[in-house]
Amino acid sequence: MALVIRDADVITMDDHTGVTPVRRTIRIEGAVVDLVAADPADVPIAQGDTVVGGRDRLVCPGFVNAHTHSWEYLAKGRYDNLPLELWMLYAYPILGARPLPPDLVRLRSALFAVESLKSGTTTLVDDVLETPGQDLRQLDAVFDAYDEVGVRANISGHIINRPFVDTLPYVADWLPADVVAQVRAVPVPTTEDYLAFSTEAFARYAGRGDGRLRYMVAPSGPQRCTDDLLAAATELAVRHGAECHVHVLETKTQAVTGREFYGTTLVEHMRRIGALSPNTTLAHGVWTTDDDIAALAEAGTCVSHNPVSNLKLGSGIAPWRRYHDAGVPIGLGSDGCSSSDTPRLHDVIKAAALLHKVTDADHESWPTVAEVLGAATRGGARTAQLHHDVGTIEAGKQADLLVYDLTTLAFAPRNRAELQLVYSENGGSLRQVVVAGQVVVDEGRVTTVDEDSLLAELRERLPGVQAEQDRVEARNAVFHETFDRMHRTTAAEDVGVHRWSGTPAAR
Ligand SMILES: [Zn+2]
Repeated sequence: MALVIRDADVITMDDHTGVTPVRRTIRIEGAVVDLVAADPADVPIAQGDTVVGGRDRLVCPGFVNAHTHSWEYLAKGRYDNLPLELWMLYAYPILGARPLPPDLVRLRSALFAVESLKSGTTTLVDDVLETPGQDLRQLDAVFDAYDEVGVRANISGHIINRPFVDTLPYVADWLPADVVAQVRAVPVPTTEDYLAFSTEAFARYAGRGDGRLRYMVAPSGPQRCTDDLLAAATELAVRHGAECHVHVLETKTQAVTGREFYGTTLVEHMRRIGALSPNTTLAHGVWTTDDDIAALAEAGTCVSHNPVSNLKLGSGIAPWRRYHDAGVPIGLGSDGCSSSDTPRLHDVIKAAALLHKVTDADHESWPTVAEVLGAATRGGARTAQLHHDVGTIEAGKQADLLVYDLTTLAFAPRNRAELQLVYSENGGSLRQVVVAGQVVVDEGRVTTVDEDSLLAELRERLPGVQAEQDRVEARNAVFHETFDRMHRTTAAEDVGVHRWSGTPAAR
């Protein structure tokens, strides 16, 4: 039994019609788009097929959220006006965190996936960073939740294998010796531990969710992992055709870190140790130099651009046009629910379209709607190593698509639908969301799980969750003053590139 969407306005994002809406009829057989035709008469209808009228409907590929962290779901709306290094003290505490039980991981992941689907994200690149560490039962819970909800995802095992105070400049010298000793006493996994964990995960999750769910490796960053781990994780990802997801040069502090730790940029360091590959995606890449960008282009390495998170944490503005000009594939990410407070990709799409208009006086270099929607779909698919499966609406690809109602206020008056999708729409006109041929959102409701009971369970557990967050935040406040000083110091240094304006006053 096929699903047929008849005579809709379709943004295919393919090489022929791209971002321009064209009238098409789409036939979906099982999980796959089987036919896309201009004339509905060319589409065979068999008995038992479901035919959906496409009148007043806009269809586009599902969005790929190219960088996010489901872990942060429970910290949504908890912090403001903290730069990354200070915010992380609370969102990803260094000391005193206790492992989240798998049933809470499952609840958190399910709610995160539901909110993502309902706002048009069909693929999540979920870099699952559990604190204080991650075990396979917790990872199972994420796979189980996403399997049930019906989203597509790359799901990571995230690894930091250096003591946290040794991943930042200056702080180990400035903190009281006993605090440094406490942090260094926290055991960190070895490279062998992580390779064994990842090898097991690749085998364990192969084919999960009919192939929708894939394991990816995620060494946290070139200043947070040892060189041998970074190189080995890259190799492992390439061997499995999987994504290797790494945070790189999100903040100016990290640009200073490269110079202090390696005497070069973090990207150049990664190139030297063999940690750049076509399977590698850098999350953020805000403070890259022109030479870094050339190295990424040469290696075929991708970037996930996360403008809303970069604004919220004051991290800076990534060099969007330079990446494009160099041919570096770009996806768009919301980042976690604490550094952007929503997984809604519509916000990210609009921010990406707007932000770079104030960084370049030449209006001909501003992001186009084709580029921005391209990054949210096929670009993101490329960064996730899923470009053969998703990102465009074409025969032979997975049927991941969004159906918008064009009779809503957001599309009135109906002018250029692709511009209105970027600048006017926020997801409120979404009527259906399809993943792998399954209608997972229908008329605003998720069809696969009971959203109300998930929310009820969250309300019930929330007092315990928040008491734990309060306790751990109080424990980590001991780092605040030193990290604040470190942030102000690095902010005032010259790293050769400028990705924000102004510097904070030193204290
Ligand atoms: Zn991140």
